[in-house]
Amino acid sequence: ATARYTAANPASLARHEAAKASLPGGNTRSVMWYEPFPVGIAKGEGVQLTDLDGHSYTDFVSEYSAGLYGHSNPLIQNAMREAIANGVALGGPNSYEALLADELCARFAALERVRFTNSGTEANIMAISAARAITGRDKVMVFREGYHGGVLLFGHGGSVLNLPFPYVMADYNDIEGTEALLRAHKDSIGAVILEQMLGAGGCIRASDAFLAMLRRVTQETGALLIFDEVMTSRQHFNGLQAVTGITPDLMTLGKYIGGGASFGAFGGRADLMARFDPGAEGCFGHGGTFNNNIISMRAGYTGLSQVLTQEASALFNALGAQLQTQIDGLFAAHGLAGCTAGYGSLFAVHFMPREAVTPQAVDQADRRVQKLWHLEMMLAGQYVTPRGMIALALPHSEADCAGLVAAMDRFLADHAAI
Ligand code: PMP
Repeated sequence: ATARYTAANPASLARHEAAKASLPGGNTRSVMWYEPFPVGIAKGEGVQLTDLDGHSYTDFVSEYSAGLYGHSNPLIQNAMREAIANGVALGGPNSYEALLADELCARFAALERVRFTNSGTEANIMAISAARAITGRDKVMVFREGYHGGVLLFGHGGSVLNLPFPYVMADYNDIEGTEALLRAHKDSIGAVILEQMLGAGGCIRASDAFLAMLRRVTQETGALLIFDEVMTSRQHFNGLQAVTGITPDLMTLGKYIGGGASFGAFGGRADLMARFDPGAEGCFGHGGTFNNNIISMRAGYTGLSQVLTQEASALFNALGAQLQTQIDGLFAAHGLAGCTAGYGSLFAVHFMPREAVTPQAVDQADRRVQKLWHLEMMLAGQYVTPRGMIALALPHSEADCAGLVAAMDRFLADHAAI
């Protein structure tokens, strides 16, 4: 597969080699690097991508979930065009930031007040920093295989860069062990941050009992509970918190909320966020030149108010659930060990039996079959992530999904032996 892939993608290979002269590894975003080299993308339209060698793909990466609207939604494109006509960063409040904030606070139960950042990473850093300052406690509890941004990842690919706060590491979904750690460090843990479904960690959901324990015990110990909904907010019109039924003290957002432009947000209880009121005594500073940039504010507001309606959200999440069922059915039909994990429009394909899918097992899995699957899907015109994550966008049709199912069916038939 590697030889066929290399032969099929000479322009992408040339771009990759040339980029190495100024970018380490030819790369400026680690997740976009894979072997033997990534295809360079020239164009996106709807859910179709075209690469530098002219191949077209159905896009199931959807910009790692940020591309919820597809690549050419006319309402959002017009909003961006109108926005830039009058300047991008204006050095003062504009009329769109509060409209976007109102939309968000109306949508997410935990969000009484919100502030904007340029990325999900920044949003998480701000939320954790605020929780530590408010509680006067130093440590944050994080979970193995959790991902909260470029300097806040605690699983695969974690490195010495990823330690900006003193932390206590716990195992996701380990109710007893986590409760014991929370109680043992109750005077020093000011924040607990987690995704209600590990995104980068394999689309594994938190159990209801685990989340309920975290809510109950943090209320007892006085630590603030932070839900990172940067990825999961797309899985229900009101965020995954509407499905789990647990309301955190603070939450973070990012990705598609900026309508496809750079975005992050953190917020939560009004009494906690009041500390960010610049007129309040002892207020926290929060800077960011592009926090209210007009492209993100306006495209974001247009997307939420006009495109991602309750109905559109329900439909594309139902399409994702159907696609998961179909892929699970393929593994069963071919008698192969594999399954999907996830919820609605965001899930992952795992080449292991369902019972085996845990954060640790996914992290330590032998990825040979997955890598082969990735290259074969790419050769078949299906743009998927090397680690198996599939994210739908609003323009995906049943026919697009059928194309992926057919390509996977051929792959599983050809590789029944592995
Ligand atoms: N949190 C989660 C759960 C994420 O998936 C991501 C991005 N993949 C981030 C935070 C970081 O967001 P950004 O890339 O915008 O910094």
